[in-house]
Amino acid sequence: MKLQFVGAARTVTGSMHLLHINGNKILLDCGMYQGKRKEAFELNRTFDQFDPREIDMVILSHAHIDHAGNLPNLVRAGFHGPIYSTSATKDLATIMLQDCAHIQERDIEFVNKKRKRQGKNLFEPLYSQKDVDATMKLFRPYQYHTDIDISNEVRLCFYDAGHILGSSLVHLMIEEKNKVISFAFSGDLGRPNLPILRDPEKIPDVDYFICESTYGGRFHDSYSVSSDKMAEVIKKAYDRKAKIIVPSFSVGRTQELVYLLNQLFDDQKAPRIPIFVDSPLSVDATKVFREHPECFDFETSRYIMKNKDPFGFSQLTYIKNVEESKGLNNVQGPCMIISSSGMAEAGRIQHHLANNIANPRNIILIVGYCAENTLGRKLVEKMDPVNILGESYPVKAEVIVFNSLSAHADSNELLHYCKTLDREKLKTVFLVHGDPDQQEKMKARLLDEKFQRVEMPAKGDQFEV
Ligand SMILES: [Zn+2]
Repeated sequence: MKLQFVGAARTVTGSMHLLHINGNKILLDCGMYQGKRKEAFELNRTFDQFDPREIDMVILSHAHIDHAGNLPNLVRAGFHGPIYSTSATKDLATIMLQDCAHIQERDIEFVNKKRKRQGKNLFEPLYSQKDVDATMKLFRPYQYHTDIDISNEVRLCFYDAGHILGSSLVHLMIEEKNKVISFAFSGDLGRPNLPILRDPEKIPDVDYFICESTYGGRFHDSYSVSSDKMAEVIKKAYDRKAKIIVPSFSVGRTQELVYLLNQLFDDQKAPRIPIFVDSPLSVDATKVFREHPECFDFETSRYIMKNKDPFGFSQLTYIKNVEESKGLNNVQGPCMIISSSGMAEAGRIQHHLANNIANPRNIILIVGYCAENTLGRKLVEKMDPVNILGESYPVKAEVIVFNSLSAHADSNELLHYCKTLDREKLKTVFLVHGDPDQQEKMKARLLDEKFQRVEMPAKGDQFEV
């Protein structure tokens, strides 16, 4: 058996690893590389390390775009085998890939308008709705803990990764040349005690483990901190009639926030202020969450048993259409507007920021990771003024940052998870999905804890195991 590291090797996007087993080629994830536009387009469009037509099957860990986002392109390039995932991942991937195709088409339209004026040749979008439709037909959804014979030699089973709805740790039992190899892939590893989701599950007896390392050297506040901090922010907004503007990813983070607010109001820890979720994708994603209670943890299931809807309450309004979204400009504080995108780089959140950022009464609440050079990161770094939709705005609103809501395990949580595996049996940990500085720190911690071998594969590296 051979492992080939194709993407998310010493970087955090474009998750893609290729397994060669007895002549079969199995692709783990087919994520979109996200970075500078031109470079990203080239990297995503060209599969330079394999021929998509020769891939026998794909196993998808979860629906995030950096893990699933390049599947339609793989299909467009000739892949036609099955795509294995959990049922919830399939349903989330459907709306996320449709949304992604829509963004690709809209972006290219914008670029092409300019190129047409300049008399240059026009570009095609990375992929279209048609490619997404063809991709969705290939999905084979399964529940967690089901043994699936995906070939004569390979048996697949999904374990809960506790990262987003449907997220899985992939476990393969592989029979090759009269020996059996137990192999696992973390996908993205979640955290214990996250709301809604179950904690990451232990996998028995692993020989080789591909493990993410996004926060290999960083530490988060515990999740319980968010609840107290959120109550404080709401009280503050209530007292000064502020609008709280929250950039948030539509899938996962928004549902977590809604659930958190729901509980705060239920427990009377904060005054009930109107909450608006302004994102069409969030509305669709919340529907998928409601359809998959089998993924919920004990607390959330118990909450539902009491006939309560974790994603709905009296003062919460979901907004899909543009007119209603514009209407939020005239709503007076106190209130909270949760809108995408999470890094404030695109989408309706930009309009809400533009309308509210110059008022010192208002609050901008940053609850997620913001990559370098994004508007979200500029706000975190207290840059003033900032550019929004082509205009300069003074940052008069108060900017508050939470780092306790991350859906990725931090350094301690990653190490703790690895230690649940049997170190005597585990021959190698391959660190992926992390920047090199984070990986170096994780590697050092694992070796300190007597793990036998830790690798940080670069793109294109291959290992015979
Ligand atoms: Zn993820």
